[in-house]
Amino acid sequence: MTESDVLRKLGEIENRLSNLENGKSEKKIVKEDRTEIAEEGKLESSEMSKENGMVKVKRVPVCDHCGHQLSAFSICKRCSKKLDEKCSIEFRKQVICPDCLRGIYPLSRQGFKIMLIVANSITNQGDITRISGIPKNDVKEIVQFLIGSGYLESHMIRGHRLSERGREALFAYSQLWGGTGDMQHLDGEIKRFVFEQ
Ligand SMILES: [Zn+2]
Ligand SMILES: [Zn+2]
Repeated sequence: MTESDVLRKLGEIENRLSNLENGKSEKKIVKEDRTEIAEEGKLESSEMSKENGMVKVKRVPVCDHCGHQLSAFSICKRCSKKLDEKCSIEFRKQVICPDCLRGIYPLSRQGFKIMLIVANSITNQGDITRISGIPKNDVKEIVQFLIGSGYLESHMIRGHRLSERGREALFAYSQLWGGTGDMQHLDGEIKRFVFEQ
């Protein structure tokens, strides 16, 4: 190896070292370090983009339905939304979200309340009005909707009763609304009515 060869080698090594150092110092500049909500259907991830430095993004996984931060989660089988426990609905042995349930079985809270009352074999519209606190005309309209949607069947002798479809909808929605204050109140009203009969 001649002296000029050695000098060339040394020059190369020096270049490489300074390149490495530059690279390192470039990486040390964190321009931004932010935390964001993970996109719908996505879990946490961090991303780095370089523009005179580095941008660190930590994505926090949240329930795509209610926005609560997730520790444990499930995924809606139909739309792939991430769901916390409160927003996970068991439906035909799969987990779905409240929006997908509404797509399958459109139902209002008032409709749910009336179905819950009918499920307890209370079919007189006056009784339903009294127990639910829903105005009489609205009860009439909602019952028509429930029949039209196939949730309720008319029965000559026993009045209205839940269809198979109605029972499935009731079970699905009870996972969503069953524990809420107004439903617990309704449950108490139904029990009192049944007891008084
Ligand atoms: Zn949720
Ligand atoms: Zn869904």
